[in-house]
Amino acid sequence: MPALAELEHPVLAWENGAPQSSAFDDVYFSRQNGRAETGHVFIDANRLPERFAAWREPRPFVIGETGFGTGLNMLCAWACFIHHAPPDVRLHLISTEKYPLERHALARALSIWPDLAAEAETLCRQWPEAVSGVHRLQLGDRVILDLHFGDTAERLALLDGRVDAWFLDGFAPAQNPAMWQPALFAAMAARSRPGATFATFTCAGVVKRGLKAAGFHWEKVPGFGRKREMLAGHIDTPPVDNRRQAAPWFMPPAARPAHSAVVIGAGIAGASVAAALARRGVHVTVVEKTAPAAGGSGNRQGALYVKLAADTNHQSRFYLAGLMYSRRWLGTLDPEYRLWQPGGVLQLALNDREAARQRRFSDHHPLPRQLVSRQAQPRLSEEAGMNVAAQQGLFYPGAGWVRPAALCHRLLDHAGITLTYGEACRVERHEDGWQVGLSDGSVLEADQVVVASAHLANRFAPTRALPLQPVRGQISEIPLPAGVSGPSRVVCAGGYAPPALDGVLTVGASFVPNDAGTELRADDHRHNLGELKRMLPELYQQLEAAGADLRPEHASGRAAVRAASPDKTPYAGPVPNADAWADDYAALRKDATRTFTTPGRHHDGLWISAAHGSRGLSSAPLCAEVIASRICDEPLPVEGPLADHLHPGRRLIRALKQG
Ligand code: SAM
Repeated sequence: MPALAELEHPVLAWENGAPQSSAFDDVYFSRQNGRAETGHVFIDANRLPERFAAWREPRPFVIGETGFGTGLNMLCAWACFIHHAPPDVRLHLISTEKYPLERHALARALSIWPDLAAEAETLCRQWPEAVSGVHRLQLGDRVILDLHFGDTAERLALLDGRVDAWFLDGFAPAQNPAMWQPALFAAMAARSRPGATFATFTCAGVVKRGLKAAGFHWEKVPGFGRKREMLAGHIDTPPVDNRRQAAPWFMPPAARPAHSAVVIGAGIAGASVAAALARRGVHVTVVEKTAPAAGGSGNRQGALYVKLAADTNHQSRFYLAGLMYSRRWLGTLDPEYRLWQPGGVLQLALNDREAARQRRFSDHHPLPRQLVSRQAQPRLSEEAGMNVAAQQGLFYPGAGWVRPAALCHRLLDHAGITLTYGEACRVERHEDGWQVGLSDGSVLEADQVVVASAHLANRFAPTRALPLQPVRGQISEIPLPAGVSGPSRVVCAGGYAPPALDGVLTVGASFVPNDAGTELRADDHRHNLGELKRMLPELYQQLEAAGADLRPEHASGRAAVRAASPDKTPYAGPVPNADAWADDYAALRKDATRTFTTPGRHHDGLWISAAHGSRGLSSAPLCAEVIASRICDEPLPVEGPLADHLHPGRRLIRALKQG
């Protein structure tokens, strides 16, 4: 996959309020008639008004665009959809962009169109940092926009999803020959639904030849304004997607209509997947043994943070995408900051090894400062609002902390979600769906089941083969004496300490693998207080001086059990049929390089979101979107290789390969 890096912003010249690219010497849109041009070239030539009006599918109508620019085309498509489509269908927009505008430039460009002001504001509010990757924005209840930042051909090759109508935009082929390459047309064809249409403003020979070679039929149609002609067309039979040839086991099961779902577990993983499904019109029943957020999601404050590997790997890509997604998602869910505070996270390097690791991380990840930057003293202590013990650290300005229990309750508060108390002890496939048996003898039925019960997620027969480890974690709560305040941002090293909430400082969490005990232990308090002293020695001294009771035997707090996978990446996706995999791919035991054509067999309609460890606030919401998107036959919010990285069957293949 391409490097995880900050992308260049374009240099713009403004003419009559409309932006023009200095590098490509071309306009984003014409000020006089940009709207009319978009309407003619992209909307009408793809016959969108009539196709939207006739759309009845449970899956969303998908538009793919090359070159998001100012977003004018996409905002117009959104407005057209709202105007023409029935009220219960959905729209999914995908657009690539290699040189994202800065937020203020985006707002300025779109301010030309007063009647799109509301749409423009929604877009600008969620506008992501210029980092390569997929950024999912929820534009409205029925409309999703996935921005695929990076080079168009590269991004479309990584896209896991298929398109109904293409807006083939981008600066003119003469100005931007690097984009209009055979790889672009081939990727478009491979990501098309049968019968997908396209439209483009240009009639250049390279475009006609490229489209034809990729399997598109085109015709010349009248162009807009002074342009005599443009191209429109379609593809009848897109080529077979052979991307998973090397790993056919990750091939997703065929989508089936999803009307109802049972979600097992009402922590952050279960609640976020329930909300994601309910928003898509699925009737969801959530089964919870104790109470929402009773397990690992139930602390007063949870850190919204990530710890990224020094060298870029899929895990880092996923967690960074997860952190960025969670921030956008929380910002939309709770713009008043009642459920979360994006006040920043400081990750301290308390020893030379960690300092070297952070240095390597920064060298290998040229990311925007708004996302993460390396900081040294005295800035570190200034940011923390008190002296911190480290000389160096990483600063994530937009990360922060969340009230996980309040968040879970908010997510479950949806007309499409029913919360049922009970202990799920059996999950079985029946002819026309799934049954979830509860310990009181009652049975719930649905066509989809999502298991999101942390370390208990592999207690059911179909999930038993997925390795999961319980990890006990205890936090300590220290009432702050008068005159002592906590850090002004989340400070973390081994554990974490967020800003005090209602006069109480939380410190945690201990980390005890293979221990599912939830009683409070003095040893864990001792560990947490030791961490506090190591990270924030000045605060610790102040607490002692003010007479705070810091005896571990007297401390209060909360212990819970989280779940981890052996590779510390969550499981998010369809549950593999482990017996079938063991048969189908048995030859891997003898030859790990053996290739196969048999697609992975799955327990059709059974899904899992688990193994979020102590970073569930960054991972679970994006995993929820991955699962809901798969269930509802939509493009995924992560690149294909990252979806494979999250696949619950990955450890089965690894075990087979290792004999
Ligand atoms: N659709 C846009 C709108 O509605 O405002 C206008 C698109 S503008 C004419 C062309 C866009 O393509 C620019 O934003 C440019 O940065 C982008 N672009 C150019 N080459 C690209 C490439 N290779 N990959 C992705 N985007 C590219």
